[in-house]
Amino acid sequence: MSEPAYVLDSTAFYAGIPYQGSGRYFTTYLVLEEVRHHSVGSSLIHSRVQVTEPTPGSVDRVKGTAAKTGDIGALSLTDISILALGLDLKNGEGGVSLVSDDFAVRNVAEVLSIPLASTTMKGGEWKNITWKIYCRGCGKTYTNPKLTTCPVCGTQLVRKASSS
Ligand SMILES: [Zn+2]
Repeated sequence: MSEPAYVLDSTAFYAGIPYQGSGRYFTTYLVLEEVRHHSVGSSLIHSRVQVTEPTPGSVDRVKGTAAKTGDIGALSLTDISILALGLDLKNGEGGVSLVSDDFAVRNVAEVLSIPLASTTMKGGEWKNITWKIYCRGCGKTYTNPKLTTCPVCGTQLVRKASSS
């Protein structure tokens, strides 16, 4: 039996999915670019997540489908790239699930029959982890995982994952 495979969007990285569990993880260069500025162990990302470009044919198919469903305006190029990668990999060995909490992404994935998983998957492979986000400048702590710099003093924030 092969390990479950997942295509991760940036919300999956923010939720800490690649740092736990034992699946095979895939993402695109565009997603990596989005999450790169977070100080979340990039060496870990490189050892556990395989970065792959989707095929141009799948990108076109995703765009065509999103235009029909009316989701195209809500999708970024990054969103389109992970949907296309999901399309490329879903028929591969063991299949793949797309991990995203984005409504438009999930909607288009359903139309394209790409299996979906959520970053808050209950009873699934991963449990929630909590982020400790703090400022080395002024010592304030935050909970919003999307913050990258301190709103008070402008220092780059540091993130630490703690499993609960
Ligand atoms: Zn600060």
